Amino acid sequence: MTITLFRARCIRTLNPARPQATHVAVRDGIVLGAGTPAELAGWGSATTDERFADKVLLPGFVEGHTHLMEGALWRYVYVGWHDRTDPDGRVWPGARSIDEVVERLRQAQRDLPHPDSPIVGWGLDPIYFGNRRCTRADLDRVSTTRPVGIAHASLHILNVNTEALRAAGWLRPGIDHPGVPLGDDGLPSGEMKGPEAMGAVAERVGMDREALAGDEQAVRRFARLCVRTGVTTATDLASPLPESALAMLLRVTAEPGFPVRLVPLLRLLAEPVPRTIARAVALRAASTDRLRLGRVKIVADGSIQGFSARLRAPGYFNGAPNGLWYVAPEQLAQAYELGLAQGVQIHTHTNGDEAIALALDSLAQALARQPRPDHRYTLQHCQLADQAQLRRIKALGMAVNLFANHHFYWGDEHWSTTVGPERAERMNPCRSALEAGVPMAIHSDAPVTPMAPLFTAWCAVNRLTASGRVQGEHERIGVPQALHAITLGPAHTLHLDGEIGSIETGKRADFAVLEADPLAADPHALRDIPVWGTVQGGRVFAASGA
Ligand SMILES: [Zn+2]
Repeated sequence: MTITLFRARCIRTLNPARPQATHVAVRDGIVLGAGTPAELAGWGSATTDERFADKVLLPGFVEGHTHLMEGALWRYVYVGWHDRTDPDGRVWPGARSIDEVVERLRQAQRDLPHPDSPIVGWGLDPIYFGNRRCTRADLDRVSTTRPVGIAHASLHILNVNTEALRAAGWLRPGIDHPGVPLGDDGLPSGEMKGPEAMGAVAERVGMDREALAGDEQAVRRFARLCVRTGVTTATDLASPLPESALAMLLRVTAEPGFPVRLVPLLRLLAEPVPRTIARAVALRAASTDRLRLGRVKIVADGSIQGFSARLRAPGYFNGAPNGLWYVAPEQLAQAYELGLAQGVQIHTHTNGDEAIALALDSLAQALARQPRPDHRYTLQHCQLADQAQLRRIKALGMAVNLFANHHFYWGDEHWSTTVGPERAERMNPCRSALEAGVPMAIHSDAPVTPMAPLFTAWCAVNRLTASGRVQGEHERIGVPQALHAITLGPAHTLHLDGEIGSIETGKRADFAVLEADPLAADPHALRDIPVWGTVQGGRVFAASGA
């Protein structure tokens, strides 16, 4: 076996026993060691790779909460508020009003082959339009003959036009569903909230999750984005994982040039709980190095900025009614108990503190019946956890993956509208989580916000909102803690910290190749550090060639 000796300007290993080095020796995709050439010479003769001589190596970033859908959505029309970079590096400008959104879709439909093919946009967020909601009348201005849909940035709401509602059989009076608000005429307004209501129309606009899960081009686009942002392991949280999609993922990730380790979580949906847990157990056996299977994701509530998250009293700051449950409490308790019994790890999406409370109560109950050490059941987002909840999270052996990007994208709106100043300052409490001893990661939830771990780290360190205010001074963390939260932190939530997340003997040779040293940079400049590319399993991938 040949040994490659990568020389770098600096290697930040995140191995506390040997935090810094200049060389790392790699054989067969595994790190032999990090150190000086003299120390590493004992492994045998090596070929020195000088191309990173002026670069900085970190452990490959681990994105603990992202979605392959980030790759799929780029086949639709981007209509989000913020400018956004696509997988090829092109920047799409934000759409700053409903009129601009409508105009962008009108333009895009001119390229469509058939007068009745659906047209889809993504990234909408009415909170930036003074919470003026988009209606089917708005989207009828795009077309009255073809189905039109726009997925919200949160992915928890889908707006459709009249034709899409009609085709799906939902254009009728008398509908009584919490996810289907009605207009003045007693018909659905076109805003469909939550999986059930969205699912009813998603297929009509060409956005059903099964089709998205099997999109091979999306996987390739997603992988390019990973290389561009230094990510070597990424979750897909979560997928229905139909058999066809699974076969595709196994084939694509096995290609010698595929640059990422994917960790798809199986989503618990309408199926009976025991069937989902049994499928997760069966999937585990199909795992490969670059496709790790067998974990389950449950969504407990919606999104805070969409007012569909479940909040405890005193509720939303602007008086909006409480959000939606996406899971029945009995279902959650049953899943936890069966998961613990079968050794299936479960990650639970909880945005509001009432959803967090439900997850904690359910797990406490399940653990009483089915104790299991080191289960690492992880709360995803967990944005509004208070101090008492963090102590319970620690006591129950859970981990958290906090949504640090929210400070920038919705921080101002959380302060003024959704939860008010006090809870806005405690949102995504990185420092408190660490002080409580809770294993902690941070994430982008791409496509909800863009995937870029150095940006996510910048958010947790600076807590700056889009308007430039520091929000939650006391929950800021240092750069070393933030780097941990994008490497070993998320690796821990996946039970992969023994394999990835640091550069040390025996671990996978996964590196993020950077142009500057995050530990020497101004913390305010963290997000601006250029990413050259990655090394994954010892294979080199340049962002410029991605
Ligand atoms: Zn998500």
